[in-house]
Amino acid sequence: MNENINNIASLLASARKAVVVTGAGISTEAGIPDFRGENGIYRKLGENRVLNIINIDFFRKHPDQFYAFFRENLTFPNVEPSKAHYMLAEMEKRGVIKGIVTQNIDGLHNKAGSKKVIPIHGTADRFVCTGSGCNKVYDYDYVLNHPDIVPSCSECGNILKPDVVLFGENIHNYIDASEMILSADVLLVIGSSLTVYPLAGMVKEFSTITQNLIIINKGYTQLDHAAVVKLDTGKTGDALEAINALI
Ligand code: NAD
Repeated sequence: MNENINNIASLLASARKAVVVTGAGISTEAGIPDFRGENGIYRKLGENRVLNIINIDFFRKHPDQFYAFFRENLTFPNVEPSKAHYMLAEMEKRGVIKGIVTQNIDGLHNKAGSKKVIPIHGTADRFVCTGSGCNKVYDYDYVLNHPDIVPSCSECGNILKPDVVLFGENIHNYIDASEMILSADVLLVIGSSLTVYPLAGMVKEFSTITQNLIIINKGYTQLDHAAVVKLDTGKTGDALEAINALI
């Protein structure tokens, strides 16, 4: 563990442009379950069932069932960032990292004070009207206080869709995310099993160009073999604190 921490710190200290990629695992210490980890939503509810619900076809056909799942499992209004989120914000402020590309939809990087964050799967506390040409945006309070399980637009009456990327939809900020990752000379991946594309593909492409891929994750990821350092821990906040202190 200590040797890995030292190696990660020295790679980050000598980086020209260090970039961080985060997945659901960085938010488990804040109390939000991930998908594929040992206490993840897939284990609790069944992978096929979850995959069936969080896709755009299901949302269109069964918005009521979609919202029942979304309201119970994918809304995080009162969650505070973990130590890991705060450490990354601190590392950005010190110039150690240049930015974060995240798959997370919980908004915790921004809440912790990170400035350069590219959220490729959108954000769970923003809702957009699906009415053609309307595009009116609503916040979480509007949806929470809406009398129906499926919230609708106060102007045109069409249903709202959470501003998150569902299976079957294109990710947000593809070009910005790809540029940020591929222009880095050190890439630090935290809390992702690296199974969800296209982000996993971007990390894979990075690893074919430069050797400086670092992974901090509890358990196996799809790109462990390509990492120059793999730190296997669930105490990501403590690990980042130790790394930051060494730089
Ligand atoms: P994933 O669930 O596939 O993988 C998470 C990984 O993090 C697992 O390997 C797990 O063992 C590891 N992990 C769990 N706790 C950890 C900790 N404290 N420290 C280090 N590692 C830890 O996550 P993914 O690759 O991000 O893919 C999941 C998809 O689901 C993403 O698209 C994401 O948008 C969405 N999602 C987001 C949230 C969120 O916003 N917090 C939560 C659940 C799912």
